[in-house]
Amino acid sequence: MNANDKALSKGLHIDTLAVREALPRTAYGEHSEALFLTSSFVHPDAATAAARFAGEEDGFLYSRFSNPTVASMERRLAALEGTEDAIGTASGMGAILLLMLGLLQAGDHVVCSRSVFGSIIKLIGGEFSRFGVESSFVPQDDIAAWKAAIRPGKTRLLFAETPTNPLTEVCDIRALADLAHDCGALLAVDNCFCTPVLQRPRELGADLVVHSATKYLDGQGRVIAGAVCGTTELIEGRLLPVQRSAGISLSPFNAWVVLKGLETLGLRMLAHSARALELARWLQAQPGVARVHYPGLESHPQHALAMRQQDGQGGAVLAFELAASNPEEARRRAFHVIDQTRLCSITANLGDTKTTITHPATTTHGRLKDEQRQAAGIGQGLIRLAVGLEHQPDIQADLARGLGTLA
Ligand SMILES: *Cc1c(COP(=O)(O)O)cnc(C)c1O
Repeated sequence: MNANDKALSKGLHIDTLAVREALPRTAYGEHSEALFLTSSFVHPDAATAAARFAGEEDGFLYSRFSNPTVASMERRLAALEGTEDAIGTASGMGAILLLMLGLLQAGDHVVCSRSVFGSIIKLIGGEFSRFGVESSFVPQDDIAAWKAAIRPGKTRLLFAETPTNPLTEVCDIRALADLAHDCGALLAVDNCFCTPVLQRPRELGADLVVHSATKYLDGQGRVIAGAVCGTTELIEGRLLPVQRSAGISLSPFNAWVVLKGLETLGLRMLAHSARALELARWLQAQPGVARVHYPGLESHPQHALAMRQQDGQGGAVLAFELAASNPEEARRRAFHVIDQTRLCSITANLGDTKTTITHPATTTHGRLKDEQRQAAGIGQGLIRLAVGLEHQPDIQADLARGLGTLA
């Protein structure tokens, strides 16, 4: 801390923390947080270097371990999530890899929702099974199934994502936390879709919160980044030592982009949600649309839970199913609606200011077998939208073009 800095007081609102929480300014008094593009750090003398490497004195050593820009991003995100600590990672998947490497060993067992992001299923169920970590995948909203899957003395981790992609299924974070703690396991929640602006899993009992900062935390589609938030004991005690040797580290440049993205997160998430809700309501009234999946709609099976858990907001992502008499017709209609858009970007990514549109059955979920896709509820007539920040009537008109000319 130097003369250019004042300490933040306690109890500040999340919007204030999103703008203000960071490492202290340097002696230059820069107003915007500095970008430290440096791989290593110098020490005043050999004894100080020795003390810092031995962990007896604080200080930056090497950017694989930590870096001031990365540390500012971590502090700001931890403040928003209401956790003691956070650690930045090279990607969202890197965050989950680090969490698994830091917490598990051969013989341990993980229970995971079967509706999580596809790469997570491959990582937990595929890669980690090669190293003797076992896993069970259960229906997202069926607490009894989660409970039945627990293997006493072996289950160390419950992993959930809520709401999920693309069907926006919600799970009860508090109920899962209780279940995890009853059997001595930890609950990790992927908070990518809601962000701490809408949902704070820590307050609901989750032990760890995982982020793909690539999505809404940056929010402008610029970088790949990730983070894990939790107690100092878990982050510094269990994950940081692995990060130091495994090097799934976040680049300072990407951390800086996310750090600045966080400053507008509160405004963006509310604006995304407002547009998504209006579009969901409008889609529901269109004759060619059979069903709309969006937690903000009263017709969503877990609407009440979602509103309680997500600060009364539905988030940015919705999916809708086109009416059709068979899968071929459903796919043809879905492609028609997608191809008639001129504004929406045809891309599987999400978490951008630009609205994206995708056909899950042939993109994000294209590698699944037919019966797996059916079990997951992903039909050929399903379209996913990640609603951006364009003027809502413009997005609506973009979708109306195809919906109004369905054959
Ligand atoms: C994109 C995504 C991830 C993976 O994040 P990357 O930054 O692409 O590695 C994890 N979870 C969810 C819910 C995602 O949408």
